[in-house]
Amino acid sequence: MTELKYRRVLLKISGEALLGSKSFGIDAKVINQIAEELKEVYQYGLEIGIVIGGGNIFRGIAGEKQGMDRARADYMGMLATLINALALQDALEAQGISCRVMSALEVIEVAEPYIREKAIRHLEKGRVLILACGTGNPFFTTDTAAVLRALELKCEVLFKATKVDGVYDKDPKKHPDAKKFDELTFDEALHKRLKVMDATAFSLARDYKLPILVFNLLNYGNIKKAVLGESVGTYIKA
Ligand code: UDP
Repeated sequence: MTELKYRRVLLKISGEALLGSKSFGIDAKVINQIAEELKEVYQYGLEIGIVIGGGNIFRGIAGEKQGMDRARADYMGMLATLINALALQDALEAQGISCRVMSALEVIEVAEPYIREKAIRHLEKGRVLILACGTGNPFFTTDTAAVLRALELKCEVLFKATKVDGVYDKDPKKHPDAKKFDELTFDEALHKRLKVMDATAFSLARDYKLPILVFNLLNYGNIKKAVLGESVGTYIKA
C-alpha cells in the first residue's frame, strides 16, 4: 500500500497552466498530461477536489481595461473557468476516472450546482470533484475560491499548481540568482512581502491555518511527489 501524506486535498490549477505552448485556450497535450498524472494518485485512493482558473481564456481585469463593467467581465471570467472544467472532465474521463463538475453559478445542463454536502459525498465516493466558476461572485479570484472550498470541504492542504517551481525571494524570470524557499510560515511570507496568492486568498488561508504547497504543474511527477509528502515546491504553513 502506498503511504499517502494526505487523505483529502484541494488542487488549484491556474488557467495559465493549461496554455502550454499556446497563447490562448487549452493545449490538449497539457490537459492530457495532467489527467494522466491525476490517474496515478487517484488510484492510491486520494480524495481530490480541483478548482480550476480561467486566465487562459478570460480575466475580469482584461475586460475592465477595455472599458467593460468589472462585475460583468468577472462573470465572463467565471464562465471561462467552466470551459476549462469541462475540458478537464473530458480528459479525466478518458483516463477512466470517475469525476463530477460542480459550478458556483447555475448552468445545470452541463454541471451540478455546488452544494457542500453533495460535494463531500462525491469526494467520499472517490469521485474527482472539479469546482467551476470560482466563488460565484465577481471581484474574487479562483485562488480565493480554492482556499474557501479547501476549508469548507475539510481538505488538509491546498496544492497551488502553477508554472513556477515554488515561492522565490525575487522573480526567477528576471533574476537568475533568485532563491527558492522550501518552507515558509504565513508570517514570514507576509513580512518578506512574498507573493503567494492574492491578498484575500492568502489572508483567508492564514486566518484558518490552511497549509499551501506551491509547485510547478508542468514537471511531470510533481503531483505524485506532493501527495506522497516528498520534497517539492514551497510549503507554507501557520
Ligand atoms: N472570477 C471571479 N470570481 C471568482 C473567481 C474568478 O470573478 O470567485 C473571475 C475573475 O474575473 C478572474 C477570472 O474569473 O480573473 C478567472 O479566474 P482567475 O484569474 O483566478 O484564473 P487563473 O489566474 O487561475 O487562471
